[in-house]
Amino acid sequence: MLKTTISYIIAGPCAAESEAQVLATAHGIAQCQAHYPNYTYIYRAGIWKPRSSPNTFQGIGAEGLTWLQEVQQTYHLPVATEVATPEQVKQATEAGIDYLWIGARTSANPIAVQTIADAVDGTKIKGVMVKNPVNEDAALWLGNIARLEQAGVAVMAIHRGCNHRPCWAMAYQLLQARPDIPILIDPSHLSGKASAIAQLCTQANRLGYSGWMVETHIAPQEALSDAQQQITPEELEGLVNRGVGESVNRGSEDLDWQRAMIDEVDDDLWQHLTKRMEISKRIGAWKKERQIPALQPSRYQEILQKRIVWGSEHGLDKETVEQIMEAIHKQSVRIQS
Ligand code: PEP
Ligand code: MN
Repeated sequence: MLKTTISYIIAGPCAAESEAQVLATAHGIAQCQAHYPNYTYIYRAGIWKPRSSPNTFQGIGAEGLTWLQEVQQTYHLPVATEVATPEQVKQATEAGIDYLWIGARTSANPIAVQTIADAVDGTKIKGVMVKNPVNEDAALWLGNIARLEQAGVAVMAIHRGCNHRPCWAMAYQLLQARPDIPILIDPSHLSGKASAIAQLCTQANRLGYSGWMVETHIAPQEALSDAQQQITPEELEGLVNRGVGESVNRGSEDLDWQRAMIDEVDDDLWQHLTKRMEISKRIGAWKKERQIPALQPSRYQEILQKRIVWGSEHGLDKETVEQIMEAIHKQSVRIQS
């Protein structure tokens, strides 16, 4: 079933850092809710952070659970935190945390996901949000969702991309396979840039997403983790004001998906072209040092023939392959000369 407008707004800092930061951020989000009450708001904050380096902030730990309880009591917002182990599930559920989420790194490991599913089985948790794995793998994402469902909990899918690449095709596969569960966008982790959040929220609305998970911090520039991709509660309110009312034009929704995928392929293509030119530049310098001419006809013929064969196997006619290769090669020679 396609949705016409978003219904969930999950917001809060990447990490709970201090009681004051948690509560001030919650105050701002509660204000947003007071002004725009027609959505389900959930306050998010990580307390056990899966960071790449051991020398960065690893999360405040269980102490943060009491701050989340204060958010529940003071602002009547349901709260969510990330869990990666059964012990964390136990501590979070005992503290009365409403929702849990499974992060992208944990989502890459089905054994870890199963231990979490076993730990939530029989608890009163309201739901578990399952992020896509760090690698582009729709089957694994779907499998993780099934593990949680088999434990009897309600599930939401969170699309957070891979390595700041959206992987729209993976999200499309999920939506096709499971149109019955909410899929939310996490534009913060998807892009890694606060400046990209608004556009991604609008795009998610057009694509029929059920909501947003946006990293929101009272002072993003001072955040101890993911400082570049968080917005203030006021900015969140601006997004809600502009963004959520937009309704989906059902007729063009699938076209919007196909266009999102094609834009991503074009991005990849141009990034690869740029990479190719950088390598070409290094080859140019190597040739110059040895006084070898930039143009090497036999090497070009070898590359061209390989691509003509490739094209014939993939439905690209010879003329098109020649035109593309010639344009690329011309630029390469120009760079090297
Ligand atoms: C997070 O939500 O703060 C987080 C760590 O996300 P992800 O697992 O998507 O990187
Ligand atoms: Mn984060």
